[in-house]
Parts: sequence; C-alpha cells; structure tokens
Amino acid sequence: MSAAKRQRTCACCGTPFRDGQRTEVEPFIDDAIRYLAVLPGHSTYPPRPVRRLVPRAGPETPPLADAA
Ligand SMILES: [Zn+2]
Repeated sequence: MSAAKRQRTCACCGTPFRDGQRTEVEPFIDDAIRYLAVLPGHSTYPPRPVRRLVPRAGPETPPLADAA
C-alpha cells in the first residue's frame, strides 16, 4: 500500500488526496524509516532558510569587502 493510500491526506496540510492524484513521498525517520505522502510541492520539512542559520562546515564565503 502506498503512503498516499495509507494516509489519505497530505502530511503537510491535511488536504485529502483525490483518487489518482499525483503525490510525492518524503522519508521521515522516527525510530524506523517511514514515508510521508504529500501533495506535490508540499513538504513537512521546514523551509530552507534564506539566510544561513546554522554554520556549515566548509569554506566561508568572505563578506563583500568594501575596500576603497
Ligand atoms: Zn499539503
């Protein structure tokens, strides 16, 4: 049984799936790996921050130096 048929609603917003509706599945780890069905373009993940909130390992992009 697909995640969509099991859930019947979008894991993101709760909108009921219609028969034959295209859905996307995203992994969700909760003790075991589960899959959540969502409407296309929906996600249960938090939106990616525009600004970096958590520093990532790797080369820093130097700030634009206003060197005059
Ligand atoms: Zn949704």
